[in-house]
Amino acid sequence: MRKKSTLLFLIIGISVTVLITGLNLYNLRDSNLKSSIKNAQIISDVVKNGLLSHMINGNTDQINTFINSVGSLKNIEELWLIRGDYIRKQYGKDKLRVPKDQIDRDVLNTGKIKYSLNEHFSQTIMRITVPYKAIPSNGVDCVNCHNVNYGDTLGAVSLKMDISDIKQNGLEVAYIIPLILILTLFIMIQISRRENNYYLDILQQLGKSIKLAISGKFKRIHNYEVSKNDRVTNLINDYNTMMITFKDTSYDIEKKLQGFIGQQIDNSNVNPLEKSKDIINNLSNLYQFKKEIELDNTKDEIYTRLSQVFINQYGVNNFTFLEIDTLKNKMEIVKQVGNVELYCKDNIINDPELCRCARTRNDVVSIDFHKSCPYFTQKNKFHYCIDVEISKNICLIINFISYSKNELENLKNKISFVKSYINEAAPSIEVKLLMNVLQESAFQDALTGLYNRKFLEEHTKKLVPQVKRENINIGVLLLDMDHFKAVNDEYGHDIGDKVLKELANILNETVRESDLIVRYGGEEFVVLLIGVNSESDAIFVADKIRRRVRENEIDVYAGNKLRKTVSIGLSMFPQDSNNLDSVIKNADIALYEAKNNGRDKVVRFQESQVSSVDLF
Ligand code: GH3
Ligand code: MG
Ligand code: MG
Repeated sequence: MRKKSTLLFLIIGISVTVLITGLNLYNLRDSNLKSSIKNAQIISDVVKNGLLSHMINGNTDQINTFINSVGSLKNIEELWLIRGDYIRKQYGKDKLRVPKDQIDRDVLNTGKIKYSLNEHFSQTIMRITVPYKAIPSNGVDCVNCHNVNYGDTLGAVSLKMDISDIKQNGLEVAYIIPLILILTLFIMIQISRRENNYYLDILQQLGKSIKLAISGKFKRIHNYEVSKNDRVTNLINDYNTMMITFKDTSYDIEKKLQGFIGQQIDNSNVNPLEKSKDIINNLSNLYQFKKEIELDNTKDEIYTRLSQVFINQYGVNNFTFLEIDTLKNKMEIVKQVGNVELYCKDNIINDPELCRCARTRNDVVSIDFHKSCPYFTQKNKFHYCIDVEISKNICLIINFISYSKNELENLKNKISFVKSYINEAAPSIEVKLLMNVLQESAFQDALTGLYNRKFLEEHTKKLVPQVKRENINIGVLLLDMDHFKAVNDEYGHDIGDKVLKELANILNETVRESDLIVRYGGEEFVVLLIGVNSESDAIFVADKIRRRVRENEIDVYAGNKLRKTVSIGLSMFPQDSNNLDSVIKNADIALYEAKNNGRDKVVRFQESQVSSVDLF
């Protein structure tokens, strides 16, 4: 830039110099010519007047001497006279006074002054002829002596003059002017260069710091040093103050914003303002997300919304949500998104302690050798597992699967943002879990863990239409522990509770997973054998329960064992009634029958039993 401006300056200066010199030379030549012509006219006047006085005084014999003396003047190379037609006619032809060249002839013909220049390198000769006209002068009238009219050309004075001196003087001036101009130009360039360099240095320094600021490398920006009497001190000081404020503020913003997302990203190559912009965008999205999940009804809706954020905002497509219940020591897959399975070894589900992420409560990333998990089974896939504490007993593991290292790196770079969404969702997931627990506890018997009567009432509303639609049977068993009061009386309530729990275990172990076991009252239980093939199958299951109970030995204390029996009433839906409540009542009637017939029995309900029921 500096060179360019100097060059431009030089070109303009030289052009101006050449132009001025050219103009000057032209003027010089013009004025030289004019002054030479003037000189020639003066000489011709001198000759004319000399001739006149010689003629008037009658000294015509001295005319040649006079002409020669004038012709020998400095710078006059040659001088001669020529006679015009009138004089020649009057005095005859004089060999000395004839035209010598075309200029002479032209002047005699036209009566006008004419000249030509003969220029050589070292000498310039002016050949000029000045006409001599018939005009009265100094009281002498030409027409008195010559037969001419006023204005006629009597003759001419011809000269060859050396005008080199005049030209030389002009040329010296012509050399001096460009020299002065070039010198001035040089001085101006030097001064302007010094000025330019000063400002260009400042601009360069400012430019460098601005570039650093744009790319976010604030740490490398230094104050621009200025001397005390510097001309731009104020500007530079203001600039330094602005940069320091800018630098401090942007780092401050970045630090505070990083606090929001809970992670420090120490990457000094990244522009802190760009980083802050990213963080603010994410915070704004996060705020929207938080507002939306607050309105979600179920835990599944929250997981779905989280999945959408992972996919749409971060391009993370394959992952599994796993919940670990630390009390039950169970891991459960709650949601799977994308083209994935749980690639951990199977036994991890029943033994969550094996899950490295759950155990260490740290991120486990397959790219990092030291943290890689021995339970991840895939060699050509990568995983990134994170752990989030949802509540005291529940933690959430998210198992992200990547199909390439790049994909995993991409996730790693965004993980702090991804985590900020998960952390935001965690309290809402906890609320939903608590609500589920509450709901479950309202329908659950605290002692045995079985469903309670309230659940049975709610559930039958859905169950009955479904069973009718599918046209299947339900075998309804109503069980009552025989002489249970005696257990309480003899061993106390704790043993009584233990007996009830053991009965619940026997029921759980004997019937199918799809069957429904309900603690109906104190020591009464209802078992719904859903989809049982036939009455005889139902009787078989009931009898199996009865036998297992009577065979079961309950530790009471000090090595004492207790055996109990149950009575079971059996009724079939829909054979006995289309109404499940009625079927349960029928089972109760059959149970009454079993009690009356000596207990430890299974009794199938019969219509005939209805009339024989003695309620009091
Ligand atoms: P039966 O053979 O006629 O059924 O006689 P029973 O003693 O089993 O019948 P009863 O209805 O007289 O007694 C039931 C007892 O069960 C009364 C009650 O105190 C006891 N009971 C009910 N719920 C519980 C419970 O949760 N824990 C304990 N330990 N006892 C309970
Ligand atoms: Mg009872
Ligand atoms: Mg009883």
